[in-house]
Amino acid sequence: MYKFLENNKKDQRIKHIGAKNLILASKDFMKIFCVGRNYANHAKELGNQVPTEPIIFSKYSTALLKDNKDFYYPNFSQNIHYELELVYKICKNGKYIDEKFAQNYYNEVTLGIDFTARDLQQKCAQNGKPWEIGKAFDNSAPIGKFVPLDSLATPEEITFSLRKNGEVVQQGNSMDMIFTIDRLISYISTFFTLQTGDLIFTGTPEGVGAVSIGDTLEAYLGDTLLLKTAIK
Ligand code: MN
Repeated sequence: MYKFLENNKKDQRIKHIGAKNLILASKDFMKIFCVGRNYANHAKELGNQVPTEPIIFSKYSTALLKDNKDFYYPNFSQNIHYELELVYKICKNGKYIDEKFAQNYYNEVTLGIDFTARDLQQKCAQNGKPWEIGKAFDNSAPIGKFVPLDSLATPEEITFSLRKNGEVVQQGNSMDMIFTIDRLISYISTFFTLQTGDLIFTGTPEGVGAVSIGDTLEAYLGDTLLLKTAIK
């Protein structure tokens, strides 16, 4: 870490935030895995086939937006969509994790929004290019406070919902996931070592839609508000 700082002394951003803050921020250098089309009705609403194996993509730690901070509409898109998703945090390092042991690798869950620049994503996909810029941009992953799974009455069946300006626009149930969190952990860990602190966005149910400046999004796990962000 110190060597890294030494090598980057002239970097303007590091000068700006200061070495001390950078060390504090280093705990956020986790991997963020996201799953596409994990709810059949959402795959259909975008005109996609229901997948036969998980579709995995990634975001970066710079995509995280925490503490109910505002989301600033980026100037590179005219069609930012919300996608509300259950997010599991990895609590143990592992590789080639068998599905039947996967539950040892997570113990907390929250809600996150997989903000998507739908216009960029579709343009990339149509041209056969990776959709990275439409998905992984800065602040595209607001997350709420994590909740211990053992504090939930039914950790295997989690209901959640998103309100836009007070109106319910998405409702989900973890039982409707095509690939369970255990299956996803097994699949992802075949290719990537999972490490403590890594996050898995498990895909969105139907009802995705556009946001506009002035909107407020609120995400509820059951009846509990876990995440709120205003679009500025
Ligand atoms: Mn998504």
